[in-house]
Amino acid sequence: MPGIAIVGAQWGDEGKGKVVDLLAEDAEAIVRFQGGNNAGHTIVRDGEEFKFHLIPSGILYPGKLCMIGNGVVLDPRVLLEEIDGLKRRGIDVANLRISANAHLIMPYHVLLDTAGEIKLGKLSIGTTRRGIGPCYADKALRLGIRVQDLLDEKILRKKIMAALEPKQQALRELSVQRRKLRKEAGEGSREGGDQSVAEAPDPRLDLHAMSEEFAAYGHRLEPHIADTARLCWETLDAGGTVLFEGAQATLLDLDHGTYPFVTSSNPVAGAACVGAGVGPADIDEVWGVAKAYATRVGAGPFPTELEDEVGRHMLERGHEFGTTTGRERRCGWMDLVALRYAVRLNRMSALAITKLDVLSGIDPLRVAVRYRSREGAVFDSFPYHQSILHSAEPEYEELPGFDADISDCRSEADLPPQARAYLDFVAEHAGVPIRLVGVGPGRDQVVWIGEKRSVP
Ligand code: GDP
Repeated sequence: MPGIAIVGAQWGDEGKGKVVDLLAEDAEAIVRFQGGNNAGHTIVRDGEEFKFHLIPSGILYPGKLCMIGNGVVLDPRVLLEEIDGLKRRGIDVANLRISANAHLIMPYHVLLDTAGEIKLGKLSIGTTRRGIGPCYADKALRLGIRVQDLLDEKILRKKIMAALEPKQQALRELSVQRRKLRKEAGEGSREGGDQSVAEAPDPRLDLHAMSEEFAAYGHRLEPHIADTARLCWETLDAGGTVLFEGAQATLLDLDHGTYPFVTSSNPVAGAACVGAGVGPADIDEVWGVAKAYATRVGAGPFPTELEDEVGRHMLERGHEFGTTTGRERRCGWMDLVALRYAVRLNRMSALAITKLDVLSGIDPLRVAVRYRSREGAVFDSFPYHQSILHSAEPEYEELPGFDADISDCRSEADLPPQARAYLDFVAEHAGVPIRLVGVGPGRDQVVWIGEKRSVP
């Protein structure tokens, strides 16, 4: 099983971290291929909880090569905090490699992200305000600063200077607009300033201080900086297994998700090639991870959303709060229209269904099998038009629920027949086999379906 991509099949937070962690046991290398520290994986190991934002969770295994690919955008401050945090807990990070071509999130990206969201007001996307979107925008504008730039102070300063000027202007404009809006709303200026304060240079945007700070990060990160694409090829060519770890999920994909309520990168399996530097033929399997129900963080269409007791049950039983932001997640029924779309888009070869335990106590269980538009048109496949998706009413099939606590089940036969029937229904409608089922947060709380691990 040389190249395996692991991607989110819904709106994120499906428990990809745990699936990667389990598959990593038999892999030589793990590489993250997109996103930034807006992602968060939680892994529970021997009762100890680890939260990862940037470093692949495979770092918990000694001796595995853990890479941050070129497709990732990284905030060196956050990365260093994560490295220090792991070291404090006795985890060796010597095998961490960072692509020299990955782009850096700079302080102005974070400021622009926040200012942009505030400006959008009610139309805001609900970003995590970590600067990810503006960083990817700079990458496309060819104004990005890359990890390799940290290694040459002169180049670093020059590049920051070129990137900084337009940001200062944009931020000034946004702040003037904000003050105007506040004045119109009769709120006065909470920024506490007259014109001169708004136009004074922001100390966080000082070229000299920023260049020095980032050069210092470069010194600390230098031992980890590498040509990660080459490391992937070497591992694959030697017959080793590489896991391509996705962050966020299919329905948040910049191209294929529910734009504009999406992330600013491509979490689909195809992007693993670009974001890690391998060819399509290097990916032998694609595992999609989906919860047994559905959740979504932030704004955007979510046809099967529940705003009732059942949704509350999912939120509470599933601890549906974001790893990165602590935000409450919106919860709803499993959406097979969306899942089928994700299966085809990623050409998944297997599904991992997590959090089946959370459904215990809900009876009956419902799964969306098609949508109906306001005009009465039936949609068996995911509608490409946002207006349809926004107003689509899901049509459900009802399946019997189960009451038993399944957190101690370790084989398919241990699961209540209703739980098995639910899984069979999902697999049949999704068109791919379910290989792994999560019955609790612990790494041992899984049921492998069929043979352990991958399909040949
Ligand atoms: P990721 O970003 O896709 O890795 O997902 P997160 O880590 O944000 O969210 C998954 C959460 O669900 C974590 O807190 C996991 O510990 C937890 N989790 C994963 N699998 C299961 C499961 O099968 N059952 C339960 N109850 N929790 C799970």
